[in-house]
Amino acid sequence: MSAPIPVTRPLLPPLEEFIPYLEQIWDSHQLTNGGPFHQQLEAALAQYLGVEHLSLFSNGTLALMTAIQALRIKGEVITTPYSFVATTHSLLWNDLTPVFVDIDPHTYNLAPERIEEAITPATTAIMPVHCYGIPCDVDRIQQIADRYGLKVIYDAAHAFGVQHQGESLLRHGDLSVLSFHATKVFNTFEGGAIISPDAKTKQRIDYLKNFGFADEVTVVAPGINGKMSEVNAAFGLVQLRHIDQALLRRQRIDERYREVLASIPGIRIVWESREKHNYAYFPVLVTPEFPISRDALYQRMRDDNILARRYFYPLISTFPMYRGLDSARPDRLPVATELSQQILCLPIFDGLDDAQFDRIIQVIVTASKEN
Ligand SMILES: *Cc1c(COP(=O)(O)O)cnc(C)c1O
Repeated sequence: MSAPIPVTRPLLPPLEEFIPYLEQIWDSHQLTNGGPFHQQLEAALAQYLGVEHLSLFSNGTLALMTAIQALRIKGEVITTPYSFVATTHSLLWNDLTPVFVDIDPHTYNLAPERIEEAITPATTAIMPVHCYGIPCDVDRIQQIADRYGLKVIYDAAHAFGVQHQGESLLRHGDLSVLSFHATKVFNTFEGGAIISPDAKTKQRIDYLKNFGFADEVTVVAPGINGKMSEVNAAFGLVQLRHIDQALLRRQRIDERYREVLASIPGIRIVWESREKHNYAYFPVLVTPEFPISRDALYQRMRDDNILARRYFYPLISTFPMYRGLDSARPDRLPVATELSQQILCLPIFDGLDDAQFDRIIQVIVTASKEN
């Protein structure tokens, strides 16, 4: 059988570029706690992303949990069922109740017109996700938040480097949270970040990620250990030198997919960016027009060792710790339910070669001619 084609493959810079950083860490004996590489990466990422205040974390999930703590969120939080489980797990770990709201069929993100009807006296926040790096309707979400006095925390795990209305998408909401997990476009093996709107908020978050220590003898909050190590930060610095090239190569693959798939009946391409995007995913819908089901096509690909993924299926709202919620009922989430049954994310990564691309297309074309 042909070699496996994963849905994504982590970006790895040349190893020899990383070694001098490791030598420096060995020489200095500073392994963590806001060392020089941590500080450099915070500054470099803030500049690259076009934001002012960024706090590094050891992973995106701890960053989400800390963002919730930083804003002292209570009660109910409106969120999307169409995401990775960490979005809502971070709410449960903070003793909050997720309230699922259906998504928009074009953006795959929280449908703004459905948010308002889900607000109750217990609602304190909205946690939308920029799914696949597609921008949420940030303006309408902010209007609703302002009208009802709600906080907005964006799970921006997919949105590294995405621009919206001429500026970083990460500038919206009260906080935005990134993930630098190995499967994301920019990775530090494991890692994450919170983007704050001002220095005071960043300060509070920096205390929270270090047990609440403000100085050697002062603990100001019941913090956690969310710190990024020097090894991870150094890796991020090396990777940052290569990220633009990697995004460009992802863009080319995205363009080729669009060209080739446009003519295949039953395969719907989801959304096209008009601004700087990151091409983190290449989702398509396998609609009822296609001769075989999404799951059958997924299986055909697996049989040929093409490891496409059904992001996001099953919906978060169907997992045992959520499905008892009133808002988790599938009849209340018709759009998310239908999309989760049709979605298929095709392999896209820096290094996906022509032969691999052709193999992927071949399976889809062959299936499209069945009957
Ligand atoms: C990856 C991801 C996370 C979790 O990030 P980790 O760094 O893996 O903890 C959270 N939300 C979404 C939408 C993700 O894709």
